Amino acid sequence: MKLTDMRDLLAKRDIQLTKSLGQNFLHDANQLERIAAAAELTAADKVLEIGPGLGPLTELLLKQAGQVLAVELDGRLVDFLQERYTAQLAGETDPQLELHHDDALKFLQREPRDWRDWKLVANLPYSVASPILVELAVGARAPKMMVATLQLEVAQRLMATTDDDHYGILTLLVQLDFAPRGWFKIPPGCFFPAPEVDSACVSLMRRAVPLLAEEQREIFRRVVKKSFSQRRKMMLKLLKQEWPKEKLEAAFAELKISPQERAEKLSLEQFVALVKILAPVAGA
Ligand code: SAM
Repeated sequence: MKLTDMRDLLAKRDIQLTKSLGQNFLHDANQLERIAAAAELTAADKVLEIGPGLGPLTELLLKQAGQVLAVELDGRLVDFLQERYTAQLAGETDPQLELHHDDALKFLQREPRDWRDWKLVANLPYSVASPILVELAVGARAPKMMVATLQLEVAQRLMATTDDDHYGILTLLVQLDFAPRGWFKIPPGCFFPAPEVDSACVSLMRRAVPLLAEEQREIFRRVVKKSFSQRRKMMLKLLKQEWPKEKLEAAFAELKISPQERAEKLSLEQFVALVKILAPVAGA
């Protein structure tokens, strides 16, 4: 959909875009193609799209994947998509497109589906991009791949490694189950209206073998959140507020982590090793 078509369409339907819903629509055909290409779609793929908007990405997803489930909060856009994709929505038993008028975060929380066979491909509403990604990524039934367009700063947090200023809670919560695969910047001018921040598309692949057992995940989340609760403080000191001092000191010694270390210096692998000591599971 060209920029002129997009403007005409919005004017004809008298739709004023809502800033708080992150309604910056992507009109650049090359960038849309690059996003779809990053997802390496085949007719066997099932795709979850959050925030289809006027459906420029949906169009490519419907061409390249077998099934698309889209969740859009704005009723005006849902009405438009229903008209635009009547054929794909039709079919009592096997429609290619399933469209939900809903808040994606609530939808994901209310209907905890098994997304393991799905790929997320979305140009996310920036204000809720992180909670949506965390909701999808931390579950045991996370999608096999996530290709998400979001604020550059959030993309940098998802891709970050130790010592990077962007490294933190979001990095570790998502990277526990997903390995970053690649990313590219998308200039503001590719969107209508142009956002005030830079954007990027990131690709994340679910790890073939989970780094932790199911029952250790909650401890991992608690350890990470506590360790970064005061970035400049020594993490051992922070963790002592919740775990026994002796156990922690022994674990730090075993892992050769300095008692003075701050959380931002510890790699994902070191956090995983620490959790394995704090919360051992039988047979592991
Ligand atoms: N995919 C379209 C595109 O690339 O042009 C639109 C992307 S726009 C950045 C984000 C879309 O998410 C908007 O259509 C907005 O209405 C929708 N949205 C905002 N908050 C939402 C939420 N909580 N749940 C579902 N959709 C949401």
